[in-house]
Amino acid sequence: MTPQDFRKHAHELVDWMADYLENIEKYPVKSSVQPGEIIDRLPEDAPVGGEPFAQIMADFENIILPGMTHWQHPNFHAYFPANSSPPSLLAEMLTATLGAQCMIWQTSPAAAELEERMMQWLIKMTGLPANWHGVIQDTASTATLSSILTAREKFSDFAVNRRGFVDPQRFTVYCSEQTHSSIEKAVKIAGIGSEYLRQIPVDEAFAMRPDALEPAILRDRENGLIPLCVVATIGTTGSTAIDPLPAIGEICQKHNLWLHVDAAFAGTALLLPEKRWMIDGIAHADTFVFNPHKWMFTNFDCTAYFVKDKTTLIRTFEILPEYLKTAEGSRVNNYRDWGIPLGRRFRALKLWFVIRSYGMQGLREKIAAHIALAQQFAGWIRESNDFELLAPVPLNLICFHFKPKDFKDVETVNRLNERLLTKINATGKIYLTHTKLNGIFTLRMVIGQTNVTLRHVENAWKLIQQAAKTLR
Ligand code: PLP
Repeated sequence: MTPQDFRKHAHELVDWMADYLENIEKYPVKSSVQPGEIIDRLPEDAPVGGEPFAQIMADFENIILPGMTHWQHPNFHAYFPANSSPPSLLAEMLTATLGAQCMIWQTSPAAAELEERMMQWLIKMTGLPANWHGVIQDTASTATLSSILTAREKFSDFAVNRRGFVDPQRFTVYCSEQTHSSIEKAVKIAGIGSEYLRQIPVDEAFAMRPDALEPAILRDRENGLIPLCVVATIGTTGSTAIDPLPAIGEICQKHNLWLHVDAAFAGTALLLPEKRWMIDGIAHADTFVFNPHKWMFTNFDCTAYFVKDKTTLIRTFEILPEYLKTAEGSRVNNYRDWGIPLGRRFRALKLWFVIRSYGMQGLREKIAAHIALAQQFAGWIRESNDFELLAPVPLNLICFHFKPKDFKDVETVNRLNERLLTKINATGKIYLTHTKLNGIFTLRMVIGQTNVTLRHVENAWKLIQQAAKTLR
């Protein structure tokens, strides 16, 4: 592709992107293709000669697009969002154009220093302790793994890094029954073993019970195990339950345990001062993660990971081969030592564009609007005779089910709701997902898409009620 061709196609593509965003509601929010349908339409072998851009683009529209679920659709209420915004997209175009690999300060000083400044901005914007340090990671899963590895090294005096697990010491990790699966994955990868992950019972709001945490720690200690780390969640995946940090933090202090806080989704709500109560007690924590790529209009991937003690983090991961030695040494942040991968994308740029473009006020208004819409939706459920809320709604996730008065048996109601979910999603008009809370098949409706408005939420509620009626 010549530079002239690139200019022409880039202009066409920007028009395509703007049209897509403008007309996104014309697409079915969830792809309805069957397994194998896309791969069957792709040639088995790579082309020998180059193909014209117009042909590639036509195939993108004809083959790829029908197989896409449209995460930026305002009727996307599934999982947690991976929302985005125009300034984020523009920054991502620049990042791709620069094509920088920002592993160390020298490989792009601006990337390293912008990242440092963005993490300082986020600390102030969310009310995290001012003396903490931040680093961008690809996902919350990676950040949590980094935290558990750092805890492991601190508590083994860096022996596992040196010798592996040679001593008969067995660490234990604690989380709630509602914790995200990435915690178990981290425990497996860190060599601790999933049998040594303790899932602490939750209360009626699905938050960790500190009164059950402490006895579990004591029991393990009595049995010769080494309690290592607690992972508290602010905004669980199932129902955005908020684990009580003050009580958990005190237990960690008392028994000398590492405390990691997973706020992957809900962390964005901390931009609202009235939601900062969620991290009361954060001073007792060691690390904290949240994903601007979930709810802060910064397209995937962009995870903000914060640590109280950067020296232990860096000691856990640093490795300095001759070819990476630079004259700046410790005067700069070489982020390759702040996590797992060596190579790093320039992710700070999109955060900078998003935060500057909306301003703190613009971001807060959008987040507050999402929470207000969710409260409105929860109110409709409360008033309805046929639907029931299944969990508190502290933020913008509503957990509910369809439960007509004459349906008593749990399994029958569960099957009814499974059918309801399939029916709703098959319309292509809205997209919801489910979880199970206390054995009850639970519909999850998240209101966090960048452009979601009252109209979308009202239409969704109408559609859900109509679909339910046809099932009866
Ligand atoms: N923690 C929580 C509470 C989550 O809800 C999720 C994903 O939804 C994760 C961690 C994992 O996030 P990521 O995909 O960034 O690894």
